[in-house]
Amino acid sequence: MNNRLYGNLIFELSHQGRKGYSFPKNSYEFSTDALPPAVRRSEDAELPECDELTVVRHYTNLSGNNFGVNNGFYPLGSCTMKYNPVINEEIANMQEFVALHPLQPADTCQGALEVYYGLQGMLSELTGMSEFTLNPFAGAHGELTGLMVIRAYHRSRGDDKRTKVIIPDSAHGTNPASAAVCGLEVIEVKSLQDGTVDVEDLKTKLDDTVAAMMMTNPNTLGLYEKHAHEIAALVHECGGMMYYDGANFNPMLGVARPGDMGFDVMHINLHKTFSTPHGGGGPGDGPIGVRKGLEEFLPTPRVVLKEDGSLTVRTSLPEYLKGENSADDTSLGSVGAFFGNFGVILRAFSYILTIGKENMKMVGPLATLNANYIKESLKDVYELPIDGVCKHEFVFNGLKDKSTGITTMDVAKRLLDYGYHAPTIYFPLLFHESLMIEPTENESKETIDGFIDVMRKIAQEAKDNPDIVKSAPHNTPIGRVDDVLAAKHPVVTFKQMKNEE
Ligand SMILES: *Cc1c(COP(=O)(O)O)cnc(C)c1O
Repeated sequence: MNNRLYGNLIFELSHQGRKGYSFPKNSYEFSTDALPPAVRRSEDAELPECDELTVVRHYTNLSGNNFGVNNGFYPLGSCTMKYNPVINEEIANMQEFVALHPLQPADTCQGALEVYYGLQGMLSELTGMSEFTLNPFAGAHGELTGLMVIRAYHRSRGDDKRTKVIIPDSAHGTNPASAAVCGLEVIEVKSLQDGTVDVEDLKTKLDDTVAAMMMTNPNTLGLYEKHAHEIAALVHECGGMMYYDGANFNPMLGVARPGDMGFDVMHINLHKTFSTPHGGGGPGDGPIGVRKGLEEFLPTPRVVLKEDGSLTVRTSLPEYLKGENSADDTSLGSVGAFFGNFGVILRAFSYILTIGKENMKMVGPLATLNANYIKESLKDVYELPIDGVCKHEFVFNGLKDKSTGITTMDVAKRLLDYGYHAPTIYFPLLFHESLMIEPTENESKETIDGFIDVMRKIAQEAKDNPDIVKSAPHNTPIGRVDDVLAAKHPVVTFKQMKNEE
């Protein structure tokens, strides 16, 4: 069937019964006669012509070329958990949840509201925060929302001069970006040789114009910021707030709580710490938590418990619509469509219940043990710029033997030949050849040992046969790509591909 006929068939079927369009009787010929002349094509659209099997095979084969956590080890640092339990998918696909509409009256979806309310409570307990909202759609969106809460708090007290956010030079790029989007000025604070925040440098930046300090703990080098308490006290003393970037919360799970370290506002990346899918930049969810006294600024809608034990949704409404379900006047209002990413929220809820409260205490130590095991097993061949105990991840600065000329990029590409996803490379920017490795708590010792063997093998190849490493990958469907060209001149249409054949 050609494109036009196929398009007409779909059009006819979808307009059956609509006024003015009738399905042709006694005929398998579909015509465009029913369409107003102004919207009819004069010639066929230039679309690829192929049969269904060809299309199905094409996409099935493409999916086979993809590498995911279900194919092999995925030691990508700074992203924490790469594990999508099957039970999460089963729960998220239950018809009872899938068929819900976000505008359904609260009394018809108490089960879904219970998931929201339950997860808000679990996250509060795990982090030591007073209240959570699940509305932001990603970590970065949580950062922005959290900074808006902080700004609203200062403004509510008439403290308008607080316009600066202090951010360590080891921070993830989203931190300064979020501060800038929030209209705040970014002030960088240096790291010491040992990779932690330089408290003396921080002291010189503190005054009554500081709105907040953002910190990641453990930081992006996988190091625990042991002066977190002291830093929080200093920032609080000058009237600023402490923001916790929870992207690295994984090793802290069940062991330490940002609320107890003196943080006032934080986000959690459900797609990092709580096992929800992480591909292609999303879908994610970035709940934020606040300490006591800041709840009134949280965005809406909010799921809240009523006196009769049922759950309801509070929204920010204009004055003339206000009623018993109106939120506080001080709320930020909405930060996105409806209630965040419900499918992701369901998965995180399912994961936390599956692990259970007692076992949650094992998560952090296991992730930490796995990372330290890899680090110690490889540090004689890869350069470890900061030695010592790491948390869930650590950073090598390329190969130890710099005389081979093999770069971090070469090592990452060669790993693909051995069936491993590459670690995060060239981040953090503190070292030139960063190779950031994070195994997570979910991998077996056999898997980790296999990875260590391959990393050692590549270090040996760098000496004995550097060309094979430099020209890697050799076993993947596509060889080494020109990243810059691919980014600057992406081929995104079928026509362009056809012309270039
Ligand atoms: C991933 C990450 C972020 C941003 O989170 P997204 O969910 O990707 O928006 C912020 N900070 C750190 C340290 C991260 O690793």
